[in-house]
Amino acid sequence: MAIIDLTHRLDANTSIYPGDPPFSFSQCTTIEKEGYSVRNLALGTHTGTHVDAPAHFVKDGPTIDQIPLKQFSGKAVVVDVTGRQPRDRICWEDVQPQLSAHDLRNAVIRFHTGWPVHWSTAEYMHHPFLDGLVAEELLKAGVKRIGIDALSPDETEGTDESFSIHHTILGAGGLIVENLCALDQIPKGAMISFPALSLAGGDGSPVRAYAWTS
Ligand SMILES: [Zn+2]
Repeated sequence: MAIIDLTHRLDANTSIYPGDPPFSFSQCTTIEKEGYSVRNLALGTHTGTHVDAPAHFVKDGPTIDQIPLKQFSGKAVVVDVTGRQPRDRICWEDVQPQLSAHDLRNAVIRFHTGWPVHWSTAEYMHHPFLDGLVAEELLKAGVKRIGIDALSPDETEGTDESFSIHHTILGAGGLIVENLCALDQIPKGAMISFPALSLAGGDGSPVRAYAWTS
């Protein structure tokens, strides 16, 4: 069985969405003093590689603890949208030809922008993003779960503040995984898993995302 880690390591250099809480990971007790090590972990629900629950955008929508565990696994279908300029809009015409060869039942579509090379830098905010029509067409094709190796599938602090991908996918009861990495290393025919913490009432959760083949 091959396993490929698709998760950024959480540390002080973690890229944070503008306005989200800072990440901190401090020592509470030490082996030297108390005999055991315990740390205090403080972070937002959308920090690092994480999944958005419908409740992130939908009032009274399903929260992360209400999502059945099986929803955090599926067939990995990767769409190559690399080589883009900062804040490029990725349109359905760029995506559709890459999906026609795939059976999309139980698929989790991953958009590979290549933006993880900018992780921890200011450039990470200026990622390419998906045109709203992409989510609408994916829903028509029966796909409700998507992911991207960037801060968001919608534009971050730009001219387009509609959050249309979030509204469409989460509004349909789907899931969005953000800040993935290593999407180019997913082998053909792989499955992908991104189990979330069962946070009561949570609008999202950090995950350990990975691709695997049996
Ligand atoms: Zn999020």
